[in-house]
Amino acid sequence: MQTHQPAAELAVRRRGRSDRVAPPRPSPAVEAGFALDRDTLLYLQRTAGNTTVAGLVLQATGSGIKAPPKKAPGRASKPATKPRPAVKPSKASGKTAKPAKAKAPAGPSQEELDKQARLGSTGALAGWALAGEANATERKVRGMWRIPLDAIPGGNADPAARDDTAESAADRAIAIVPAFLGRAPKSVEVLLHLHGFGIGYRTQQGKKPQGKFEWSGAGEGQVRDVAVDRMEGQLEESGRAMVGILPQGDLTSGFGKNFDSNAYITAVFDKLVTLKIWDAAPSSSGVVLSGHSGAGSTLASMLAPQLIRKGKDPEAAAPSNLREVVLFDSINSAHELESVTAWVIQSLNADLAAMKSMKQDGRLTYLETSMRLRGYHTHLYDTKYKALKATIDQWFVDNRKALGGKGSPVPARMKANYVIKDADKSETKYESHERMVAHGDRMLDALSALPPAEEQVAFMNRVLAAHIAQGAASFKQQGKEENPDLDDAQLADVPGTGVKMRSDAAAKAGELLVAANSDRKDVRLAAQVDLKAAQEKLAAEPEESPESPGVPQTSPKPAAAKIPAPKKKAEDLIPALEADVLLTDGLSAASGYRGRAHQDRLWKSYFRDKYYPATRKMRAALPGGVHGDEAVTRMVSYIAGKIAPPGYSNHQAGVAIDFWQVRVKGHDIHNDTNADAIGLWKTTWFWAWLNQHAGEYGFLDFNKEPWHWALGRHG
Ligand SMILES: [Zn+2]
Repeated sequence: MQTHQPAAELAVRRRGRSDRVAPPRPSPAVEAGFALDRDTLLYLQRTAGNTTVAGLVLQATGSGIKAPPKKAPGRASKPATKPRPAVKPSKASGKTAKPAKAKAPAGPSQEELDKQARLGSTGALAGWALAGEANATERKVRGMWRIPLDAIPGGNADPAARDDTAESAADRAIAIVPAFLGRAPKSVEVLLHLHGFGIGYRTQQGKKPQGKFEWSGAGEGQVRDVAVDRMEGQLEESGRAMVGILPQGDLTSGFGKNFDSNAYITAVFDKLVTLKIWDAAPSSSGVVLSGHSGAGSTLASMLAPQLIRKGKDPEAAAPSNLREVVLFDSINSAHELESVTAWVIQSLNADLAAMKSMKQDGRLTYLETSMRLRGYHTHLYDTKYKALKATIDQWFVDNRKALGGKGSPVPARMKANYVIKDADKSETKYESHERMVAHGDRMLDALSALPPAEEQVAFMNRVLAAHIAQGAASFKQQGKEENPDLDDAQLADVPGTGVKMRSDAAAKAGELLVAANSDRKDVRLAAQVDLKAAQEKLAAEPEESPESPGVPQTSPKPAAAKIPAPKKKAEDLIPALEADVLLTDGLSAASGYRGRAHQDRLWKSYFRDKYYPATRKMRAALPGGVHGDEAVTRMVSYIAGKIAPPGYSNHQAGVAIDFWQVRVKGHDIHNDTNADAIGLWKTTWFWAWLNQHAGEYGFLDFNKEPWHWALGRHG
């Protein structure tokens, strides 16, 4: 498993810092036509709390949040910076600004206390001015801080007013920061995600727009990233030290005239420092660039700046330490397809060039950390995504030889880095396009394509150590010592299998397989005779009439009767185990002796590919989070019984064998610990045979894995 390559690290902070002069925001800014200025609001937020401020906003606007007046887009249209008087007590409601204090909650919540502890006495507060509750301040979404950021330069400056949100879109972003990072993270990854058409992350309020292309599906008072995209949840479940940056764009996914990813990320990091979320900005070890729907035009400009059509496309710069590109229904036009395709080909060629002088092992190592592409599409985007996929497929056909030719694992490994995924069958409505980031946990899927992050490797190693300790304790109870590795003199081949075992076990396993294969041949002959008889019997039976007897030809509704009865199969007429033996071409072994290093590799690959992803949601719900102490304990019990820890496997003792059934194509039996595969194994003729005869050769079963048998020992 790889950790990040230091070479790939780039301090985002170093870039963009000197070439950017933070534009002082006109203060007090009065937005959305309310007679509340920002300084007053911030003062009230500090002294009276957000609930009070939200209440004041409601009062200032009469009952509930009103639609802001329509304004022409652009900075110039912002209200004058002349201060207006702070809100006056509203006669209608009978409430005053003063009793705000009295209205403050009796005692601060734990969350409030956490925040105060973190913010200290500086009074710096996150949150959007004049925002609905969801965006008024930072808040925790499970183990993630969701932080609305104001006055971020370099992005969309258009307030982008619309009647279903009272919030301005100008100079804003949402940051999602894992709480486990603490105040002084040294290095983080970044997910930079651009939203599609609509109000973005602003609070959905009032009347929902009628047009299907305008409403995200968020309910009243909800925000897209939480309610529709499940961005916080998916980032948390990824387990990565990754910060989500979600720039707030305009209604048609505009993110400013010259959106420079690097400068923007720097600005967000700086803001998080100003707000005392962090003591100092960390470096960025890599960026995942992602976008949904209308974000495609900005993404296309970033990916293929050479194809920008002056005046037609936004100018935008890609992150300089890009690790992955994720495209959610975001190839909208022939031009965007051309741009994305150009980038993909360039990236594939760059990989090929980088691997040119490497041997196979070097290439496989390179591909562990090289570029990733994930393209997800619903039916609305079929044509463009299928065209992109065809281009990728063709590239691999054209470059097969250069990648290592037939038999080399390199092409398949590389292709797994560039994946286009079709929608599932349930996704046929327009709403599925809106919800596609969350549906099937696609963002999580995309993040899982990245190489394991440092914190994930650290967690794996803690689980491994705990599992080994458990194995040691169990062996101690049984008065046994940890298994030492065996040397060549102690090992022998199991004839005809290609696996080795301890010499005595190898001999016994060899005898067992000879007997099993011999019985298999005998049973197969008998099965073939029975099958032939069954086929003849079927042939002798008269063909069933397509019409049910008694239904007249003139019946007005013959449709149901016309469905032919399923044809009887001869295989179904012979004993099930005989039928199975006709599908069993041979009996062999998949694994025997495994030294400690081998078991260690196997344990880690299972952890990474199976156990870790399978437990994401379970771990995210635990106190201490996805990688906490509780998560370690739960992982050990989850893994126990699925694989033995290095040092404590009877494969390492040389006495265990994993049998393998060579099957007729299309009727494979997998040695897999999922319930379906285990169930299938136990329907086979060989399983029945083993239960009847393995004991004669000294082998005992391990019920959790029907293929795993050991000489004279359980487990
Ligand atoms: Zn085994």
